[in-house]
Amino acid sequence: MAKKGRVFSGARPTGKQHLGNYLGAIKNYVALQNDYECVYCIVDVHALTTVETTQDLKQNTIEMALDWLAAGIRPEDSILFVQSHVKEVMELHTYLSMVTQFGKLTDLPTFKEKVRQQPDNINYGLVGYPVLMTADIVLYKSDIVPVGIDQAPHIEFAREIVRSFNYRYNTKALVEPQVKHTEILKVVGIDGKDKMGKSLNNHIELAVTAEETVKRVREMVTDPARQRKTDPGNPDVCNVFTMHKIFSPQEEIDMINTECRKAGIGCVDCKLRFASNLNKNLEPFRAKRAELESKTDYVNDVLIDGAKRARTIAEKTMAEVREAMKMP
Ligand code: ADP
Repeated sequence: MAKKGRVFSGARPTGKQHLGNYLGAIKNYVALQNDYECVYCIVDVHALTTVETTQDLKQNTIEMALDWLAAGIRPEDSILFVQSHVKEVMELHTYLSMVTQFGKLTDLPTFKEKVRQQPDNINYGLVGYPVLMTADIVLYKSDIVPVGIDQAPHIEFAREIVRSFNYRYNTKALVEPQVKHTEILKVVGIDGKDKMGKSLNNHIELAVTAEETVKRVREMVTDPARQRKTDPGNPDVCNVFTMHKIFSPQEEIDMINTECRKAGIGCVDCKLRFASNLNKNLEPFRAKRAELESKTDYVNDVLIDGAKRARTIAEKTMAEVREAMKMP
């Protein structure tokens, strides 16, 4: 079947993935493969804007790729590769930076947020992050970038850079990417309040054992107003119930919805049921991950092959870019 276009998405190598990554990104990556030619990139260079050591980059890249592959990214259909393996992106980034206004970069809300987060490390790369992101997208002539609503300004920004470049050099070499808004539900962590993430240690990793999953799920915060088992609870404000709605069979969801409200089921029971359903859902993923992990060099080979295929596209784009710019 003819594909509808080329999708590009990148994520920083954060190592083993958690439920937030899965529900917010990976699940969507897997689904997009059916209709689009997909290019998925582990953006290790971007990671350097926030981490000051490269010590864990390689291992984190492998762990993340393993999770993506085990979750259903098909390397025979999609290109899965590491950003720094295709050096052309650095060259394109430099050229694009010359058609980008500095003031616009420093005005972006994401930049202002980073300044708040790491006031002692406002590096030049951090300011240029959206330019490198644009280089990633356009180097692979991507038509579509699936993003949540908060990232949409970056894609609009990328479109502006493309227009400036194409106008300045009177070319059509670069393609303006389109946003594909994805319904990214914000997965809340086990603390029941913040977005699930590694930095807050409120996450549940996909690749942990069934026993560790149970342990982690038992720590989940439920309806804070429910103090005792005999108090009725409110599933509408309970993160465990939100998770049940994703991972449990409908009749169990209905049962909990009714029983919780009249204190017919306690939080511990409810959590154990969720843990059990989550483990059942993750079983095939975990088996596949173990299988891939046992194959020596498998992930490395996938990434090397991905880089080769990505490079073929990148070299062609750069040849057009240099020609338009009359650069050697
Ligand atoms: P990055 O900084 O590269 O976005 P993250 O690990 O923060 O790396 O996120 C990777 C992907 O997972 C992103 O698409 C992000 O939106 C998604 N994601 C991460 N945490 C959550 C969460 N708690 N809920 C929903 N999506 C999430």
